Amino acid sequence: MKKSIFIIIISIMVFSGCSVKPVEETRFLFDTYCRIVVPGAQDRAKIAVGMAFKRLQEIEDKFNVHSEKSPLFGFNKTGLPVKDTEIIEIAELSDKISKESGGAFDITLYPLSGLWGFYSDSPAVPAGSAIKKCIDNVGHNGLIISNGNLRAGNRACKVDFGGIIKGYAVDEAVRVMKDTGIGAALIDLGGDLYAMGKNKSKPWKIGLRDPRGEGLISIFELSGNAVVTSGDYERFFIEKGERYHHILDPRTGYPAKGLQSVTIIGAQAVYADAWATAVFVLGRKKGLEAIEKLKGYEAIIIDSEGEVIFSSGLNGKISKPVNVKR
Ligand code: AMP
Ligand code: MG
Repeated sequence: MKKSIFIIIISIMVFSGCSVKPVEETRFLFDTYCRIVVPGAQDRAKIAVGMAFKRLQEIEDKFNVHSEKSPLFGFNKTGLPVKDTEIIEIAELSDKISKESGGAFDITLYPLSGLWGFYSDSPAVPAGSAIKKCIDNVGHNGLIISNGNLRAGNRACKVDFGGIIKGYAVDEAVRVMKDTGIGAALIDLGGDLYAMGKNKSKPWKIGLRDPRGEGLISIFELSGNAVVTSGDYERFFIEKGERYHHILDPRTGYPAKGLQSVTIIGAQAVYADAWATAVFVLGRKKGLEAIEKLKGYEAIIIDSEGEVIFSSGLNGKISKPVNVKR
């Protein structure tokens, strides 16, 4: 199951009619298509894009729990402690967001995602008793971070950074590009994206996909910010007419109910990513309350009826939905 690309970038200046072609490269990483675009061709841009992809590959290798190259493979398999400072840094941040979201965001859901079969090509609804047993044993309290070590507090504690790592990778790619002297670029990791600077002196135009169709529900301008979406259409299966998707509610053990997608806009993609997942689990009311408290971050929430809700900082700032069926 490949994650669909759900944010469509509309940048007419770059893609048509413009005499100077942008530097653009796409590679398959993090189980999705990752694209970097730098407007206005320059040799330095090509070098920067190459360096950014090298960094993305490093992060993918380190955090891919299914790869033996990753220290997380041994952690999940045999409880081997992890000493890698970068992994510990992201684990600490995940733990913080887990606490701030009342446990809605939880990287220790690995056994639950496994039980649902979301790491395989044939996910299915597990027995209720198996789900209950699984959630009784998992929880971020099982994660021990001390003295430069990440350890499992019990045998059930296994981790999956899938809800946060692409956001972190976006931020790292932005850092590499800036360090290389690039001021404008679009970094898009299958919809977790960052719009750096401007696209030929105009803000980047970002289109947000309708979670139940191919059209756009909104178009907005962005410069110097990250946009990350979590949606129930990214990885799902239908059983007996019901949709089951990959964002799991740690309290129930079932896919979170009530929303179709959550988009978070803000300065850092790592926070936007984790909070998009957390808000999806928290639902419309509690999720919106959490984002209103989070300084510098805004949300576009689409509920299960297709209604679009904007957090207060976005009201009037972005175009209203264009073709949502209600
Ligand atoms: P995202 O697309 O960022 O919402 O991340 C979804 C991925 O995060 C899933 O494929 C799982 O690997 C993981 N995940 C699922 N539910 C949660 C949750 N409640 N908290 C943290 N990570 C989760
Ligand atoms: Mg996320």
